[in-house]
Amino acid sequence: RCPRAHPTLRVRPLTCTETRRGDQQVVHSLGDGAVHVSAARHDATFGFSAVFDAGASQEAVFEGSGMRQLVELAIDGFSCTVFAFGQTGSGKTYTLMGPLAQSDTQPASPALLGLMQRSFTCLLEQSRSRGSDLALSASYLEIYNEQVRDLLSPGPPCALPLRWSKTRGFYVENQLSVEFESLEAIVSLLLQGSQRRRTSAHALNRHSSRSHALLTIHVRSRAHHPPMWALQASACPSKQGTLCFVDLAGSERVKETGSSGELSVEANSINRSLLALGHCISLLAKPRGKRTHIPYRDSKLTRLLARSLGGSGITLMVACISPSSRCLSETLSTLHYASRARRVTTRP
Ligand code: ADP
Ligand code: MG
Repeated sequence: RCPRAHPTLRVRPLTCTETRRGDQQVVHSLGDGAVHVSAARHDATFGFSAVFDAGASQEAVFEGSGMRQLVELAIDGFSCTVFAFGQTGSGKTYTLMGPLAQSDTQPASPALLGLMQRSFTCLLEQSRSRGSDLALSASYLEIYNEQVRDLLSPGPPCALPLRWSKTRGFYVENQLSVEFESLEAIVSLLLQGSQRRRTSAHALNRHSSRSHALLTIHVRSRAHHPPMWALQASACPSKQGTLCFVDLAGSERVKETGSSGELSVEANSINRSLLALGHCISLLAKPRGKRTHIPYRDSKLTRLLARSLGGSGITLMVACISPSSRCLSETLSTLHYASRARRVTTRP
């Protein structure tokens, strides 16, 4: 049994506002992947593959979460996914991108760069040191109100159809995939796409935390020197892996029952996809023999993640939480959601 999903927890520091208004710190790391939540009527311990508390640097998260190995597996041809989830303001974007996403003018200090930029650096370094010729390309999508939109193609965002085929599985039709060869090029694609996501955020009131964003790096290794016996091009070993970064919408509006006046389409879409994701994860967590049909088709998000969640993929989950007493109920729900993923296994 190979653990497919590696749930990792990141507890961000209390913000100045939280400290100023005297919020209590209710989350404490106990070491060895254990975290303790203690508040008035709650007292619970949760286990993770790794826990990063307020003092953990961006580099520590990259090195300690298994992200580097994930990059190497993508080069070796595996489908790898890392997703950050948690309520709005819990540190998902900070973990993936660093504070760079917040300011357009000032470039972030290198120490604050997130998992994405660190992975790109690692990918490009590996590509050089292996001497093999890696062809790298990126696509960047968001799912907003159950519509898939391309964040890289110019012009106003338009919905793209999500299709299925026997050979490709689920795929997005007409999705733009842009080749890149340098760190500057991929970081600029990331910024362009995030900018498009943020531009609509101004118009649509915090839209960015209401949409799921998926940046996928396609890694194709071309056999540079085909061996003598490889008479035909098709006989050359060529591998294709992917590395997908998912910044999930804030989970705070997810309610088990949608009946409490949650009428907005937006909230329902988020509910639907996060619940579908949670549902797929809990079904995948059952022992192989007892597993029933996995309902990937229930949402666009689970369809897009089907390959990495189900078949042969490797997933790194980063649950993000605030340590503040005011976030207690959301924190507990994130911790429960994440600890279910611990039991998921796979054969990549
Ligand atoms: P989310 O994407 O989950 O909505 P953000 O990543 O935007 O949350 O984080 C919310 C705020 O908290 C931001 O101002 C961010 O800079 C800050 N923050 C999040 N995580 C950390 C951290 N580990 N260290 C310092 N500041 C953080
Ligand atoms: Mg965010």
